[in-house]
Amino acid sequence: MRWEDQSETVTLPAAAVFLKTLEPADEQRLSGLENELPRVVVTSDCLRSMREHLDTSCDELGGLLLGRAYRHAGPAETHVIVAECSVASRVFDSTGVSLRMETEVWDRARPLLDAGALVVGWYHSHPNLGAFFSETDRTTQRSFFRNPFSVGIVIDPVREEMRAFVGPESAIVPEENLVVVACG
Ligand SMILES: [Zn+2]
Repeated sequence: MRWEDQSETVTLPAAAVFLKTLEPADEQRLSGLENELPRVVVTSDCLRSMREHLDTSCDELGGLLLGRAYRHAGPAETHVIVAECSVASRVFDSTGVSLRMETEVWDRARPLLDAGALVVGWYHSHPNLGAFFSETDRTTQRSFFRNPFSVGIVIDPVREEMRAFVGPESAIVPEENLVVVACG
């Protein structure tokens, strides 16, 4: 299927209640960050399911990230983005002007979306190429995941690297802002 623009106007809840649900160490780490860039939280279940999917092939694979996004009043207003669940696509072709995934991805995402989850972004692999965003990836992000809380996670399963990029301009998420938490 051709992936359509996912940007939408949503009123996000404040992050404070979510942060209190985390383990104290995770909560302190996230609350203590001084920078103004979004905080990206990946649940260990979500990371495991992404890795299990991406480890199955040395071709580039990908899928959707579902979860929650919150407003966060730190030193400046920013977001806390929580990737709770990955939805794998067996078909994945990202060209910047189109993002092709199989139709069933949407079918598998639907129950979670109906339960209130958001499409918070996408993920894909760069087997043995390094975890960076290519120009094509930046164009895909700008075209299809352009909310300020849209995150693109790229994983190199060979080199064991993971990076996250956020917003329409694909700003790199600092390593300290990318936190894997045990919940979920
Ligand atoms: Zn890429």
